[in-house]
Amino acid sequence: MIIQTEVVIVGAGPCGLFQVFELGLLGIKCHLLDSLAKPGGQCTELYPEKPIYDIPALPVCGAQELVDRLLEQIQPFGAEMHFGHEVTVVDKRPDGRFDVETAGGLKFDAGTIVIAGGVGSFQPRRLGVEGADHFEGSQIFYRVQGAADFHGKHLVIFGGGDSALDWTLDLAGKAASLTLVHRRADFRAAPASVHKMQELVAAGKIRFIEGTAASLITDSDRLTGVNVKDATGALVPLQADHLLAFFGLAPKLGPIAEWGLELEKKALRVDTEKFQTSIPGIFAVGDINTYPGKKKLILSGFHEAALAAFGIQHYLYPQKRQFLQYTTTSPVMHQRLGVSDTPETPAAAAG
Ligand SMILES: Cc1cc2nc3c(=O)[nH]c(=O)nc-3n(C[C@H](O)[C@H](O)[C@H](O)COP(=O)(O)OP(=O)(O)OC[C@H]3O[C@@H](n4cnc5c(N)ncnc54)[C@H](O)[C@@H]3O)c2cc1C
Repeated sequence: MIIQTEVVIVGAGPCGLFQVFELGLLGIKCHLLDSLAKPGGQCTELYPEKPIYDIPALPVCGAQELVDRLLEQIQPFGAEMHFGHEVTVVDKRPDGRFDVETAGGLKFDAGTIVIAGGVGSFQPRRLGVEGADHFEGSQIFYRVQGAADFHGKHLVIFGGGDSALDWTLDLAGKAASLTLVHRRADFRAAPASVHKMQELVAAGKIRFIEGTAASLITDSDRLTGVNVKDATGALVPLQADHLLAFFGLAPKLGPIAEWGLELEKKALRVDTEKFQTSIPGIFAVGDINTYPGKKKLILSGFHEAALAAFGIQHYLYPQKRQFLQYTTTSPVMHQRLGVSDTPETPAAAAG
């Protein structure tokens, strides 16, 4: 079966979710797909429990909370969501529409495409020691889903970026023991976090070792520790119930790189009027795109989604007159948002 739709959105991170909203306000229907099992992109996958401070009008908002709020905000528009579906094929047809296929066999006939693929189908960089894959998800983790699982446990955290330092600070005092291991004595993380970590080390509350993981220590089928090779080349055995490694993401664009779109440093080049890629009818918003001055921030992606929606409307319905309506005062938008008593009429839908 081929699903007909006005828009296919590739990627259900915060920007893909907000794209549903902006299209919904214009009365445009879409299907939203993500290769991951749930919506939220980096917010849900990488830092669900961290607070975000730079979402306009929300002085502080948890990353998962932001995703939950976006899901609530787009709920009136009834977008169909398909999770666990990596989009592998996007082909433009001579009639200007697009054939879209997923690895799992879903097929779409779409009027336009929005790529909101973030850093692509991202994969955390893994601990390069033998047997690590065997314990992944049980005792070795590359992201934290529930911090409480690590309370009272012996932990070794690897990495020198913000995630490694943030989790070190968060879990210090809650874990039975905590050692931070980084291959250099200088860190990529925020200086304030590094300073706090060094204070904890000086107070004897946590350990820091400059070194790398050399091998796992196991007992039958259980991980009991890790041998770390320190800066002098000596092996330091560390007791551990869990290893947390934060080496960042391997930027893997995946199938998006094969769709014939103009790329610059693994990002899709777009214009800043409509956020359209080098192929008319394919738009790109959020971390996946690039243009002069691009900043990979959620609020940038929200702005891009608003303008892309008008570009999409024009691509789909070039004869339609475009005008800006306010959500505060537009009866048509109230109907679409489900905050009006009157159901949307065909005349309103055309508005
Ligand atoms: C630790 C950390 C803290 C951060 N803090 C902030 C902050 O305070 N403020 C801020 O503004 N930003 C912050 N960011 C950045 C912010 O998370 C990103 O800018 C934002 O997630 C980008 O959203 P997105 O929707 O473009 O992409 P993403 O969130 O990356 O989502 C993209 C989605 O597309 C999916 N996808 C990719 N390719 C395909 C495909 N072929 N088929 C199907 N699905 C696909 C992926 O699975 C993913 O779910 C932070 C990032 C990190 C890592």
